[in-house]
Order: sequence, then structure tokens, then C-alpha cells
Amino acid sequence: MNIIVFGGAGFIGTNLIKRLLSENHKVLSVDNLFTGQIENALLFNENENYSFIRGDITDESFMEVILDISIKKLFGENPNIDEIYNLACPASPPKYQIDPFYTIYTSIAIDTISKMTLKYNAKLLHTSTSEVYGDPEIHPQNEKYRGCVNTMGPRSCYDEGKRIAETFLYEHITKNKLKCKVVRIFNTYGPYMDPNDGRVVSNFICQALKNEDITVYGDENKTRSFQYIDDLIDGMILFMRNTSDDFYGPLNIGNPDEFTLKELYELVLKNIDTKSNIVYKEEMKDDPKKRRPDISLAKEKLNWEPKVKLNEGLLKTINYFKSVI
Ligand code: UDP
Repeated sequence: MNIIVFGGAGFIGTNLIKRLLSENHKVLSVDNLFTGQIENALLFNENENYSFIRGDITDESFMEVILDISIKKLFGENPNIDEIYNLACPASPPKYQIDPFYTIYTSIAIDTISKMTLKYNAKLLHTSTSEVYGDPEIHPQNEKYRGCVNTMGPRSCYDEGKRIAETFLYEHITKNKLKCKVVRIFNTYGPYMDPNDGRVVSNFICQALKNEDITVYGDENKTRSFQYIDDLIDGMILFMRNTSDDFYGPLNIGNPDEFTLKELYELVLKNIDTKSNIVYKEEMKDDPKKRRPDISLAKEKLNWEPKVKLNEGLLKTINYFKSVI
């Protein structure tokens, strides 16, 4: 198949492309490297089925003219595009807060990507997020829960951006018959994460490896449910390919095993010999206190559930970070 991945140089994009190339598909990766890493983009350069172009989904001239040139180069003069994955958006709070306006525009660019998908009669998988549930009042969160999101706060640019993107897609699906799948991703970790991403798993591991203070923001009893990247990629591909056209989601993909931040750093410390100390920093505003996906719908629709336990996934991730920092 011919496939485009927007946000291909990011953590999830890189793991997805690795999988798609191993299945012998042709993949065009698009990334502006705002949070994506050039090292990731260059990983597959030797593969003739792969091409990378640096470009921005919010830049209409790029999307309408320059991208077309790359598409024709990789897929031929009259290109047929089968699948489009949209992962393009800064996702870590310290990164998406660098330029909140840009974060909002990145989400809105789903309109351009939807129109492109329609033009090529392709199928789109869009990555939404558990952040659409905000600081949730129900636990665990299922897809019917409408969320508790602050419209005016430091997380709003991302949370509300992702919510309006889902709405754009809903309109394209119902009015224009866009073939689309909307996945809501819960916290995910694994190889090819940026060591400087600022997420809790990458921070704790890299801090421990460098004997630096392990930073806990606010209450160490806050919870998250951490999913290993391979489980996410399995779920995304099953959703894209093995569900009927009329099922567009949204669909939670995450690991329902819930851990406190304390349990997380204890596991990291068990696996890394380090001189690091735990230090407590101020809590970030509007930070959700707990988060755990209800994955009943994914189990039913995809016959999928995560396989990798946290300790096993952490070990693989620790080995990755040892090789890059
Ligand atoms: N966090 C932390 N120390 C860090 C980075 C994050 O205590 O060095 C906390 C963060 O405040 C949040 C949780 O860990 O409560 C998960 O943060 P992350 O950025 O990984 O994901 P998200 O908040 O998007 O779920």
C-alpha cells in the first residue's frame, strides 16, 4: 500500500513507520521537526520504500504544492494513496505550551488533511487523546464520557484543539463521507521517545540514568496508565484495517493497568542503578489527578488488548535510552 504519515519523525510516527515498512508498504513521512527528531526521520533512509519531507501541515502552500511533488516522486505520476495517519501535533505539556497558538493551528489543520484524504479517496486515521476527557469526574474513562476540560488554562490549547479536531472529522465523515478512524491515545512510552520530551516516563528514566534528581510534580499519588508503544501500534493498525467503514470511533487505545507516580519511579529505580534522589516540584495547573482507559469498546471491535506489562516495557525503554543519551 501507499501510505502517508504526518508527524512521522515523532515517537509514535517512528514506531508506526518501522512497522509499516516491515510489512513492505511505501511510506512518505512528513514532519516539520518541531518536536519530531531528525535522527528518527533519517532512520529508514536506506529503504527505497521510504521518503521523508520536512514540512508543516499548517502551511497551505506546503500542503497544496510542495507535498504533491514528494507524493508523485514516491508513489508515481498518478498516485494512489491508501492510508493516511495523522500524528502531527506536539503532545507533551512543556512542548505544546511553547507556542500554544501553533498547537491550536496544528489541530485545526485536520481540515486540510481531511480534504486531502477525500481528494485521494484514501482512509484516514487521526490520533486524538485521552486529554479530551480533561481532569475526569468518572473513572475509568469510556468513550461516552464527555470530559471535564478547562477552556481557559495552560492545557486548553492542546485539549480543546484535539476536541475541535474530532468535531471537524465528525463533519467530514457525516457530510463528505470521509473514511476515517479516530483513536484516543492514553499515555504511551517506548523506544524513539525524545529524551527531552518532558513526559514522566522519559524524564524519570533519563534522570535516573544521568544520576540527576527525579522530579515529581505535585502529588506522587496521581495516577496514569502507561501503554507500551507496540500495543498502541497493534491497536491503531487493527482499527485502520479491520473495522467496518461505518465505525469511525472515537476509540480508546491504552493500557488499563493504573500506577501512581510513586509506583512508577520505584519501578524505574528497581531497574537502574543510580544515585538520583526524588525531589518534589510544584504541580502543573489543571493536571489530571487520575487517568485510566476503559477499553471495552476496543476489545469488542478489534479483539485487542495490551500485552506488555509495565516492567517489561520499561526495561526495553531503558535499554533504548541507554543507547541514545
Ligand atoms: N510528571 C512528573 N514529573 C515529570 C514529568 C511529569 O511528576 O518529570 C507528572 C505530570 O505532572 C503528570 C504525570 O507526571 O501528573 C504525567 O505527565 P506526562 O507529561 O507524562 O503526561 P500527561 O500529563 O499528558 O498525562
